[in-house]
Amino acid sequence: MEATIPKPSIKEVTQKAWNKRPLIISGPCSAETEEQVITTAKQLAETGKVDIMRAGIWKPRTRPGSFEGIGTKGLAWLQKAREITNIPWAVEVATAKQVADALHFDIDVLWIGARTTVNPFSVQEVADALRGVDVPVLIKNPINPDLELWIGAVERVAKAGIKNIGLIHRGFSSYGNTDYRNAPMWHLAIEMKRRHPELMMINDPSHIAGRRDVLLDVAQKAIDLDFDGLIIESHLDPDNAWSDAKQQITPQRLAEMLNTIVWRKEDINNEELHNNMEKLRQQINHLDDELLQLLGQRMKIADKIGAYKKENNITILQTNRWNAILERAYVKGEKLALSKEFITKYFDAVHMESINHQNKIMNS
Ligand code: PEP
Ligand code: MN
Repeated sequence: MEATIPKPSIKEVTQKAWNKRPLIISGPCSAETEEQVITTAKQLAETGKVDIMRAGIWKPRTRPGSFEGIGTKGLAWLQKAREITNIPWAVEVATAKQVADALHFDIDVLWIGARTTVNPFSVQEVADALRGVDVPVLIKNPINPDLELWIGAVERVAKAGIKNIGLIHRGFSSYGNTDYRNAPMWHLAIEMKRRHPELMMINDPSHIAGRRDVLLDVAQKAIDLDFDGLIIESHLDPDNAWSDAKQQITPQRLAEMLNTIVWRKEDINNEELHNNMEKLRQQINHLDDELLQLLGQRMKIADKIGAYKKENNITILQTNRWNAILERAYVKGEKLALSKEFITKYFDAVHMESINHQNKIMNS
């Protein structure tokens, strides 16, 4: 008789998925019908590229009247799909009742959505419901760009005894038209990684982009920035999805996209590569030192100008002069391949420092 290799338990599969890099999570924004869940799961499994599946069961919608999720009955569909594919599921939870329901249906991974992370009462309610439970939890950044709220949510969940905590960077709300549905503000994600290097962080290009055409760009940028993985919404018929239709892609398109992404390594193992990188880094350090020296000199001149302005009783801010400086810099910057955005930010910072120096002189 042939020995049969026992199928790994779903707990083992989940733990393995959690530790895999890059971690890929995909599935529909919302579970809509049993048929949709099962067919999507089968197609995602066929790609061989999805470690964990996602689906929204309760949807926190900005305005009432749109589809607010299929509710608890959808959890049974996820269980059924899991029996077929042996791939774990993740769902969003925002209340103690939702946690209880999700756990009752053995959901493998839970996530806290961006609209929940903003509210310490809700996060605490979810955390209390998780006490004594062994389930991995992903925490999305809050919709507003406030790192402390994000960290606070991590602390509440950690205090409840949850060991496996991960982060999802899904961008931040902003007012008015922007390139993306949610501004990525990459620097905040990077700062969060710096403060909590022990937590995995994956990127959610779907909710950042809000549309299919820039999804790949956002995903590639995240991988270039050494994120641990991606969570991407996929749907059998994206245009007719009941929520987030514009940003979802088919499982086939997902597979193509994951093949197109250039996956990068953080570690430099190869010695020659390492030496070459070291040389280039030395050059960067050297140039940075020079730039700092020059900035110091620039501020000394600003101090002199401050003294003149004080003697002659004229204002610090001279708008015309400032516009002239910027215009000159844009023209020069363009030739040096420096973006207008960078020039503006750089000169704003230099200008502010200059004004602070002059302020000190004026008031001394
Ligand atoms: C979602 O993942 O479908 C969702 C509601 O996302 P977010 O919490 O990032 O808005
Ligand atoms: Mn969505």
